[in-house]
Amino acid sequence: MVGQAGAPAEVDVVIVGGGGTGLAAAIEARLMGRQVVLLEKNAELGGSTAWSIGSITASNTRHQRREGIQDSPLEHFEDMPKFAPEVAHLDNDELRWLLCQEMPDTFQWLLDKGIRFHGPVPEPPHRKPRMHTVLPNAKAYIYHLERYARQSGVDVRKDLRANTLIVESGRVIGVACEGPSGTQRFLGRGGVVLTAGDFTNSPELKAEYISDQAAKVEGVNPTATGDGQVMAIELGARIINGDQASGPEIRFIAPEGEGLVGRLPPWGPLAALMEWSMGNLPQWLLRPFVLSFLTTALAPTPALFDEGAVLVNKLGKRFCDELDGPAFMLPDQPDKVGYIVVDEQIAKKFSAWPHYISTAPSVAYAYMPDYRRNRPDVYNSAPSWAQLAAKLGVEAGVLETAVAEHNAALDTLGSDGDNRPRPKLESPPFYALGPVRSVFVHNEGGLVVDSEHRVLDGDDQPIPGLFAAGATGQGGLLLKGHGHHLAWAFTSGRRAGRRAAFEVTSADLE
Ligand SMILES: Cc1cc2nc3c(=O)[nH]c(=O)nc-3n(C[C@H](O)[C@H](O)[C@H](O)COP(=O)(O)OP(=O)(O)OC[C@H]3O[C@@H](n4cnc5c(N)ncnc54)[C@H](O)[C@@H]3O)c2cc1C
Repeated sequence: MVGQAGAPAEVDVVIVGGGGTGLAAAIEARLMGRQVVLLEKNAELGGSTAWSIGSITASNTRHQRREGIQDSPLEHFEDMPKFAPEVAHLDNDELRWLLCQEMPDTFQWLLDKGIRFHGPVPEPPHRKPRMHTVLPNAKAYIYHLERYARQSGVDVRKDLRANTLIVESGRVIGVACEGPSGTQRFLGRGGVVLTAGDFTNSPELKAEYISDQAAKVEGVNPTATGDGQVMAIELGARIINGDQASGPEIRFIAPEGEGLVGRLPPWGPLAALMEWSMGNLPQWLLRPFVLSFLTTALAPTPALFDEGAVLVNKLGKRFCDELDGPAFMLPDQPDKVGYIVVDEQIAKKFSAWPHYISTAPSVAYAYMPDYRRNRPDVYNSAPSWAQLAAKLGVEAGVLETAVAEHNAALDTLGSDGDNRPRPKLESPPFYALGPVRSVFVHNEGGLVVDSEHRVLDGDDQPIPGLFAAGATGQGGLLLKGHGHHLAWAFTSGRRAGRRAAFEVTSADLE
């Protein structure tokens, strides 16, 4: 058996990291006839891909065509920068075009592997509905792709943490890993593909690329520690757009245990039944069932604050300007948690499209009534501020004072032109959504790569034998809006896997 401690195992392509990107890379390299080993440091495959909500954005899908939506990669390409025009100049247009151009095929590739989706659903400023949500949850990606990879003959190794790239004559020829039986080395004739995710839970990398304050904020995925970036940097690679993290974001704390959808096995027939039901059964019947979604940390939309919601800490005190990066302030509060406070006027607004509370698995968007029914752990309401405070265990008077001071301050805002007018919180009943905490969900800082997913050094020259994809190889691409990170994971993973497979031939010919 290859890869026993001491004896280096030689294969064609070594893939480091078994999330969505690594699985896509491994499958494609294997389908090119190569011997492939997929190394995963955790006991299970999945990474952030398994943590995700599961939305994926693509044009020209079967789902769009079924609804008569005429869409194209070019329109998708044009719409993506509209999510953050202020940073569009930092984007990697070449990689964005590759992504948009190949997503129709990647979406079909996922369907062919047995993965099922609901949608498309609208997400302005996309001109066309393009977001699709995986059924029943994001674990379906891993379940189906791992099964397909194993059936295709990919050698999947778990509990092996890659820590050093092996270089010979200037070329990356393999990787050294630590596992239960010590150090193991894997050599790849075509090279190594880094698909080890992002650095949302590396305080060191966040301090270096974002800020010291960002370093205090945890990542949702505790094992997203930027190992791939670190290994490549040791060989002269560099991170681009490391400061362009989406977030930190305020997220609801996931409840203990998994909800119904989290516990649903991601079998194909079940997902197909869900897909049919969502297209054919009335929403009032289906939503309460499907929205037992508690698989992951859901994100309340920042639009809540734009529309007047207030953020208080667990003592009931307001501590920041909600319109000026509240997620950066929350980690300094007691237990790093807070509550989003609204009145009936705002609650009503966030009860129907387009004012959603959060995206959600399967149904795409969740509203106030969904939270009342399905998230009693983060949904509190009362006819008065005093009663709401009592429910939260907040000292009498503190919450009332915080809201009263906020309402009074609103009378003077707007005069300097900087503060947008927001409504006062005064119509009962009152609501507190939370506890919430600040987390990083993803960051945009990947290695600099070229359009063939080769990792580039400081002189923009490819480091021979080294490839990167997914979050590790994001190459400056900005993935704003929903569903683009997974789109990039699968698309770039497939491409990098094929590219490394080709490298075997060219290396052998030399
Ligand atoms: C809560 C949450 C919700 C999200 N929702 C969405 C969404 O709805 N839509 C969307 O597009 N994006 C979403 N994202 C982002 C998206 O999930 C990620 O950007 C994407 O999954 C990254 O894929 P990846 O394969 O690059 O990394 P990962 O899926 O993280 O995979 C990397 C793998 O590499 C392994 N690894 C790391 N280091 C090593 C090492 N040294 N040796 C061996 N193995 C290693 C990890 O354990 C992991 O399994 C979400 C993320 C989170 C956390």
